[in-house]
Amino acid sequence: MDDLLKFRTDQEKEIAGIVFNSGRISDEQALYLYENSDPVFCAWLADYVKNARFGKDVYYNKNTHVEITNICLNQCKFCSFYRRKGEEGAWDYSCSDVISILEQKNAEEITEVHITGGLHPEKTTGFYSELFTHIKSRFPHLHIKAFTAVEIEYFAKADNMDFETVIALLKEKGLGSLAGGGAEILDDKIRKTLCPEKTDSATWLKVHKTAHNAGMKTNCTMLYGHVESYRDRIKHMSELRNLQDETQGFNCFIPLKYKSYGNQMGINKEISLSEELKNYAISRLYLDNIPHIKAYWPMTGKENALLALSFGADDFDGTIGDSTKIYSMAGAEEQKPSMSEKEIRQMLKDAGFNPVERDSGYDPV
Ligand code: SF4
Repeated sequence: MDDLLKFRTDQEKEIAGIVFNSGRISDEQALYLYENSDPVFCAWLADYVKNARFGKDVYYNKNTHVEITNICLNQCKFCSFYRRKGEEGAWDYSCSDVISILEQKNAEEITEVHITGGLHPEKTTGFYSELFTHIKSRFPHLHIKAFTAVEIEYFAKADNMDFETVIALLKEKGLGSLAGGGAEILDDKIRKTLCPEKTDSATWLKVHKTAHNAGMKTNCTMLYGHVESYRDRIKHMSELRNLQDETQGFNCFIPLKYKSYGNQMGINKEISLSEELKNYAISRLYLDNIPHIKAYWPMTGKENALLALSFGADDFDGTIGDSTKIYSMAGAEEQKPSMSEKEIRQMLKDAGFNPVERDSGYDPV
C-alpha cells in the first residue's frame, strides 16, 4: 500500500499527512495547492475528507427562490441583475405577488423559500416584516432563507437600527436563516474594483457574527475568477474560517464562479472547469470547520455540479423550479433552472451517490 502512495513532492506528502490526520492546512499550504498541485491530487484529498464525513450521501432540498426586485441603488460592476427603477427589464413584486408566485410554485410541496433582491428604495424592514407575516400565515411550514449581509446593512441604515435589532425583528416575523451572498472577496481593495458601494469586508463579517450570536445559521460564498489572486482567495477563506472557529454559525460554503455576460467588469474570460473543480477541492480542504460545500447547479450547470461532488462538494442545492435569474442573466448555461426531485435523485444515484433530502438546517427530511 505504501508503495502506491507516491507523492510528487514533499509538500504534497506533508499536506496529505495533515489531511489524513484530520489536521488543518495552513495558508501557505493552500497556496501551494493552488499554484502547484493538479486537480486530481486535490480531488483525492477532498474526496477523502468528504467521504469521512458524509460517505456517499449528497444533500439536496425542495426549494424555490423569489427574487423580489432587481431594482437596486448599488451598481456592482460584476452584477448583470440590477436595473434602475423604470428601466426596461426591471421588476418589483408586492406581498400579494409573492404569495401568488409561491402558490404557482406549489409551495405546499417544498420546504424552503430563498428570498433576495436588489436594494430597493422602498423595501426595508417594514416591508419584509409584512411579507414574512403573509408567507408564514399562508405557508407556515416554509423555512424562509433570505437576504445577504448587504441587505441587512442597508435595512439597518435606512431604518436607523443596529444589526441586532433588524435581525431580531425579521426573525420574529419568520426569517429562518441568512443567505451567503455579498461576500465576493473579503478584501477591501478588491471590493473597490468589484463593488465600490457595497458593504465592506468587516461589516459583512459583523452581520454574520451578529446573526450567529442571535442563534441564526447563515451561509457564506466566494465570488472568484475575476481580478483576485490565489492569495486573495485564501485570505477570504481565512476570514470565514476564523469567524467559524468563533461562532460555528456557517452551515455551508458556496464557491461562485464569476460569469462574464452583461456586466461592467470588462473581463470576458471565465476560468476553466478544471480550475473551478480544483477550487471546490481546496475549499473543502481549507475550510475544515464549515460542514457543507455546495455545488450550486444553476450557476455551474448540472453536469459540472455533479463533477464537483467528486471534488469535495456534498450539497447539490435544490429543485429551484425556474425561480432564479441572477445567474441566467449573467450568461449561465442553465437559462431556466429547474429539476424535479425525481431527476435530482436519479442523477445522483446514476453517479454513484446516495441522495438525501435535507431541510434548511441539513437534517434529513
Ligand atoms: S450585486 Fe446586489 S447590491 Fe450589487 S448591484 Fe447587484 S443586486 Fe445590487
